Amino acid sequence: MMKKIIQQLAKSEHVLLASHIKPDGDAIGALLAMGIALEKQGCQVVLFNESSIPEVYRFLPAVGRIQKKLTDWQRFDTAVILDCGVLSRVGSAADDIATIPVIINIDHHTTNNRFGHFHLVDVNACATAEIVYRLILEMKLDVDVAMATAIYTGILTDTGSFRFSNTNQAAFSICEAMVAAGVKPSTVAQHVYGAYSLGRIKLLNLALDSIEISNNGYLSIMTVTREMLACTDTQPEDADGLINYARRIRDVKVAALIHELENNTAPPPRKQYHVSLRSDGSVDVSNIAMKFGGGGHAGAAGFSVESSLVELKQTIYDLSDGFGESCHLN
Ligand code: AMP
Ligand code: MN
Ligand code: MN
Repeated sequence: MMKKIIQQLAKSEHVLLASHIKPDGDAIGALLAMGIALEKQGCQVVLFNESSIPEVYRFLPAVGRIQKKLTDWQRFDTAVILDCGVLSRVGSAADDIATIPVIINIDHHTTNNRFGHFHLVDVNACATAEIVYRLILEMKLDVDVAMATAIYTGILTDTGSFRFSNTNQAAFSICEAMVAAGVKPSTVAQHVYGAYSLGRIKLLNLALDSIEISNNGYLSIMTVTREMLACTDTQPEDADGLINYARRIRDVKVAALIHELENNTAPPPRKQYHVSLRSDGSVDVSNIAMKFGGGGHAGAAGFSVESSLVELKQTIYDLSDGFGESCHLN
């Protein structure tokens, strides 16, 4: 499949590259690296992400090229969709993107539904950035420091700094190559993890205080409300990564972060929530997320629902009854 995609891209002239809404380091890193690569190859590229780029990723070279709004979709002959398990993850542009004649799906989610005309889906890849790197090598392109920084950041963040279960040998070997290409790990770490606003740290305090545990101790729930964001003067992106604290508690197999979404249209007391799930490796949370119309990986998944907070917590608590010994993965 990689060869066919390279042949196709060699014919492509106007390429749209897009990744998922509320982008993480991998969605942004894979988008930038692939975009720069295709430009080097002589394509006209447009980089697209419907959400704002979180502050912590704005240091990445060429990040200013990512556009939030597009018109004139007919100009594209090819779309490269990165880090999306389903096409709808790109957001409200999905219908317009679906009209592009050739769609290439590059991803590593276990729940990927193989949308598009060409797929390069490797669920064992630590990040979409790993697949993009392999593709760039196969395209015989040099990895410059801008691409290297994007790839390194994608792998660093998707592996939770080489701690999550998707951390594989490639994570280290590719990052080593990226350092050889000029990436400074301490500089990336300083931008991504060491330049938080005071409000973000205060939000951490509120989020930690919200943690509750199921009776059997296997499940933790953390809640981030709009009110918490307002009183700490923070943005939804400032909640990224908070769930990992709820996952670190001894005996906890699954942590859930209930995130109240903005622009709620539901009649009270119902609201729209995003639920992030993280597992210690013994429970496949992508299965749980799929049941609620979401998706992800075995160790990290998510879904969005409309519910009252009380009912949503109860629904999540009910799941923990199934987190006994029987659900261990191989
Ligand atoms: P999050 O819950 O946003 O921290 O995301 C955890 C993982 O699940 C990421 O790999 C996401 O891309 C994926 N994910 C989150 N929400 C959804 C969704 N609604 N549909 C499919 N995948 C999702
Ligand atoms: Mn992602
Ligand atoms: Mn990813």
